[in-house]
Amino acid sequence: MGTCICPIDAQFFDQVAALLTPPTLPQIQEYFEVLEAKRHCSGLKVKPDAKHGKGVHSEVNFQEDDLILKDEMLVGAQHSSNKIDCFVCSFCFRFIGSIELQIGRKLYLQELGVSAVDGSGSSDGIGCNTSSEKTRIPQDTIQSLMNSNLQLPYSENFPLPLVVPCLGGCKEAYYCSKSCAEADWDSFHSLLCIGHGSSSPSTEALLKFVKHANETNDIFILAAKVISFTILRYRKLKAAHVQREGKHDSSNQFDSCIFPLLLEAWKSVSMGFKRRWWDCIALPEDVDSSEKVEFRMQIKDLAFESLQLLKEAIYDKECAPLFSLDIYGHIIGMFELNNLDLVVASPVEDYFLYIDDLPVSQKKEVENLTKPFLDALGDDYSISCQGTAFFPLQSCMNHSCIPNAKAFKREEMLMEEWSRTRMDKLL
Ligand SMILES: [Zn+2]
Ligand SMILES: [Zn+2]
Repeated sequence: MGTCICPIDAQFFDQVAALLTPPTLPQIQEYFEVLEAKRHCSGLKVKPDAKHGKGVHSEVNFQEDDLILKDEMLVGAQHSSNKIDCFVCSFCFRFIGSIELQIGRKLYLQELGVSAVDGSGSSDGIGCNTSSEKTRIPQDTIQSLMNSNLQLPYSENFPLPLVVPCLGGCKEAYYCSKSCAEADWDSFHSLLCIGHGSSSPSTEALLKFVKHANETNDIFILAAKVISFTILRYRKLKAAHVQREGKHDSSNQFDSCIFPLLLEAWKSVSMGFKRRWWDCIALPEDVDSSEKVEFRMQIKDLAFESLQLLKEAIYDKECAPLFSLDIYGHIIGMFELNNLDLVVASPVEDYFLYIDDLPVSQKKEVENLTKPFLDALGDDYSISCQGTAFFPLQSCMNHSCIPNAKAFKREEMLMEEWSRTRMDKLL
């Protein structure tokens, strides 16, 4: 490889550098003023300062248990490994279907897992010589749970939204409502869907990317969502621009009209504090100082591998700088430094607790029906939906060892809420 940098390369690197330039103090102020107004968080202000960066300041005194703010996530994803346990809306992470579907689906997938591990491949469950200590439920009963042919007692007290399939027909993403399906399609999923309606130029490449992320680190899926979000937003801004200004030749990615639109599309991501992932990742305890450099190189190589696969799947030359390793590393680094765990409690746990609390006179009869399912689920019955998400306002708050606020999630999903006493000068 030569070292010569041609003008096109130079322009590309300039654009990458522009995307990674932190916003100015007035830009930060302006962005968060709009966000504060949208979130109705009166009494709170994001104040940037040149020395400490951004901080969330309280201008009023909060009482204990007061709600401080509700934040809306910019991007979030359920952990891949959690998808077996919890069937949730791919946009707002609300549990969907029914208690029966949640239980039936989990048992069905558990059975598949058992067959795959013990190699029996048996699907009828009769006379299976299995190492599993859990109670086995017959396949036809599991199917009845999943097809709504079997209703568990009192499950009507735990209604869940009907399952809405993905608009692209992928059978991977499901939603709690048409509005969540459309919002996800519009913001993220239309480029990342592996169904027939996908806008991805290669769903085959997309499958390879997802497989790699599932086998290595599912944070790559979240990074892909950020890139997809930016591209889709860029395309909308460009369509509006073309409509306003008339048609222009867009075949040149260095067209002076294009890059400002990409910068605008990237704006909400630009506000998050970032460093390169391989520079800021916390080192595992078993990595000693002599192996530090090598460990960081391995992380960088892993990100490179993932980015190549993503590029094959959704590359758009007008958004080329988004596919630079530097940008990819910074997006993941932003998650590493700011992300909040996403946890949504399981209604299946609530259901079994409810059954357990029934008056003794009713309990015995009901438990005859429900206990085999509880035994079959084992300790996993209460697993919550788990994932990771980036929240714009919350990300401006730093960790504290003596916190005066806590994050929690209520029924209205999408919102991460912060409450408790007061938050004065929390940097
Ligand atoms: Zn939803
Ligand atoms: Zn889809």
